[in-house]
Amino acid sequence: MTTTKFKPGTICVQAGWKPKKGEPRILPIYQSTTFKYDNSEQMARLFDLKEEGYFYSRLQNPTNDSVASKIAALEGGIGAMLTSSGQAANFYAVFNICEAGDHFVCASAVYGGTFNLFSVTLKKLGIDCTFIDADASDEEIDKVFRPNTKALFGETLSNPGMAVLDIEKFARIAHRHGVPLIVDNTFATPINCRPFEWGADIVTHSTTKYMDGHASAVGGAIVDSGHFDWDAHADQFPGLTRPDESYHGLTYTRAFGKMAYITKATSQLMRDLGSIPSPQNSFYLNIGLETLHLRMPRHCENAQKVAEWLKVHPSVKWVHYPGLKEDKYYQLAQKYMPQGSCGVIAFALKGNREDAIKFMDALQMICIVTHVADARTCVLHPASHTHRQLSDEQLGEAGVAPDLIRLSVGIEDAEDILADLSQAINSIR
Ligand SMILES: *Cc1c(COP(=O)(O)O)cnc(C)c1O
Repeated sequence: MTTTKFKPGTICVQAGWKPKKGEPRILPIYQSTTFKYDNSEQMARLFDLKEEGYFYSRLQNPTNDSVASKIAALEGGIGAMLTSSGQAANFYAVFNICEAGDHFVCASAVYGGTFNLFSVTLKKLGIDCTFIDADASDEEIDKVFRPNTKALFGETLSNPGMAVLDIEKFARIAHRHGVPLIVDNTFATPINCRPFEWGADIVTHSTTKYMDGHASAVGGAIVDSGHFDWDAHADQFPGLTRPDESYHGLTYTRAFGKMAYITKATSQLMRDLGSIPSPQNSFYLNIGLETLHLRMPRHCENAQKVAEWLKVHPSVKWVHYPGLKEDKYYQLAQKYMPQGSCGVIAFALKGNREDAIKFMDALQMICIVTHVADARTCVLHPASHTHRQLSDEQLGEAGVAPDLIRLSVGIEDAEDILADLSQAINSIR
């Protein structure tokens, strides 16, 4: 029986590590850089990618792979690779198919770190990114595609603006231009949305957030749907469809078929650039994943209560939460994540910037932290913290209003969260 046939809750608990007779029931931490073989020929075949097996943890490690396969099963993908951070996941996801001279398109409402990576660092590597308004028409988005465009990128739920991506529309546009759609599914998690079911080709994650869920370990993941036909656009993706000199002329699509993209990411990018998670961190991630299906509904239930409370509070200027009927993204959220979006709410208080800061400083249980999306309710002012390197214009592009407060609602008792918010708001008046 394959675990991919199971429901998501069962996959969270059961997928990944499959012990054989006498092996540990719980996923072991293979804290070893290297693996033993009986003779030189066996090792040589591994290096030629002619045989599967572990030889060096920078390329593959059994603990990491078990957790990667659980995430692949959750997303309904055919393979996944773990990375040491979400940043590394998004970098590799793009760099696996883009090289100097190439171009890709990104929905502008994305995480600040992703915005910097795409607009500054990838540019230095010769890869150009055009940011577009995700709500623009098909025709407007079509116009920014170029002959050298290699991918379209967006976040299921944007951090911190809480915009919902119209995945079907984005997939349609990407495929019309012969490129894959890459979706960062960090906030929704596969419990609430599985982008492959709506046409996305590659999914990325910062597992640091809900997947780990306890703020224990920074990590990331790339998942391959196996759906994109690289050979149908062979000239566009020579890295996958032409011989790789660093692997004795092996061609990924020919040697690995549907697994070409994810195999190249591991055997070429991870080999050359590193950024693997430690097996210890993957062990923590796996424990987090075992309860993801229990935590996400609670995050959504609590956030819905908090959003509705904020919505009618006289000191609150505005609230963005896709679970609110009046929200701009309510309909899209109903379509793509009918069970709920996540625990993150964006809102602003009436008054000036000092009032927002006073409010956050007055919170008692809820802490100001850079982190988001874990069991503990926390708060952040992106314009003064995570996004402070962006100009006002870039803030606008990234969907971050200067007065936006990002509230990440945890899984505590909703009454206690509301009580803390209430006393802190009242303290500024
Ligand atoms: C946090 C985050 C990232 C970056 O992940 P790290 O694990 O912090 O490197 C990428 N995308 C989204 C949507 C995020 O929230």
